[in-house]
Amino acid sequence: MAKQPTVNCTFCGRKREEVKILIAGAEGHICEFCVEHAQEIIKNEIPAQEQNSSTPAALFVKKPIEIKSFLDEYVIGQDDAKKVLAVAVYNHYKRVNQKIDNDVEIEKSNIVMVGETGTGKTLLAKSIARMLNVPFAIVDATVFTEAGYVGEDVESMLTRLLQTCNYDVAAAERGIVYIDEIDKIARKSDNPSITRDVSGEGVQQGLLKLLEGSEVLVPPQGGRKHPDQKLIKVNTQNILFICGGAFDGIDKIIARRINTNSIGFNANKELQEYQQNNSLQFINSVDLKQFGLIPELLGRIPVVTYLNPLDAATLRNILTEPKNSLIKQFTRLFEMEGIKLVFEPAVLDFMVTKALEYKLGARGLRSICESILTDAMFELPSKNLKNFEVTLEYAEQKFNTSKMSLLKVA
Ligand code: ADP
Repeated sequence: MAKQPTVNCTFCGRKREEVKILIAGAEGHICEFCVEHAQEIIKNEIPAQEQNSSTPAALFVKKPIEIKSFLDEYVIGQDDAKKVLAVAVYNHYKRVNQKIDNDVEIEKSNIVMVGETGTGKTLLAKSIARMLNVPFAIVDATVFTEAGYVGEDVESMLTRLLQTCNYDVAAAERGIVYIDEIDKIARKSDNPSITRDVSGEGVQQGLLKLLEGSEVLVPPQGGRKHPDQKLIKVNTQNILFICGGAFDGIDKIIARRINTNSIGFNANKELQEYQQNNSLQFINSVDLKQFGLIPELLGRIPVVTYLNPLDAATLRNILTEPKNSLIKQFTRLFEMEGIKLVFEPAVLDFMVTKALEYKLGARGLRSICESILTDAMFELPSKNLKNFEVTLEYAEQKFNTSKMSLLKVA
């Protein structure tokens, strides 16, 4: 048998048996020592900013119509919110990509979304971040307090963003932060039972600096800043803030405003009634101010949009339509077990009815699905079954004997 030619590292000459890895190239080989050494040289020779692959010269952003189509794949309905978001996001990243020496300064388009819980606000923000492939963090406004009180400093929301991208500051500086429950930090000073507004206006004031775009010192581990902690400097100039909240009762504020605006001899009664019953679509900053957000904060969140409550038809679509819909997810789980899962159409209607009945919205669909399928998912992997059909009778029986059915309907 012919003797194998000995292979050496072309760079340092080490023999095959002296190294762990020898990577073959077109005309030679390189060992792990030389790869490491080369990496050192790159690190020293090329400035840190240029090395950072997550800071492309310009972020590729789809056109608004394409952004909306993308969102359509994941979120059902909410067309108005999608349109407004698509335009805001498009403009925001157009601004990020523009040359610095431009004489027209485009302002940030931070966004606030108003809509009942479980209508898709977080999902919309998450989907936008997925599309752009930028770091994304969800924070809850209620955990923040004014400096000096117990709770987290507002800057720690940027800690979450940094954590999602492994502390890559440049990447985080183009990311998206979703601030949930922004309505919970509304000013409550009209309420006489509250003597000190710990979580409200002070937090709003704290947010101003972050939202408008400035250099912020961020505690790497979150929580409260303390003197001997090394802080990370983050510029929020290009971070997009999307806020969301249910703003309970804001429909009445809007209805009142519309009503007072349209009082007059020629006021169209029918139109007035329609406007009052569907008042959310007429929301603007004035209503949010009335609700308790301070004007300075609203000035930094120029884009306002709303999400509709989910009706039966929308819930039914949510079950099957999105790219990763619940039914598709469960079908896939069974498929991995070699079982073809089929639902009787009436089962889907049953799930929707229960979600509405228990006032659980879209979020409840998952728990309902689980309560119907848990037994099957427990038993079937041990059985040799090729098909499994969920009939209405089966679904009713499983749901009615589940813990969930014991939940009291408010
Ligand atoms: P919100 O932030 O408005 O409280 P989420 O976006 O967290 O609500 O929605 C909760 C869950 O309900 C989501 O994970 C998603 O599965 C589902 N969902 C809610 N609204 C929609 C929608 N319009 N389209 C598709 N799924 C939805």
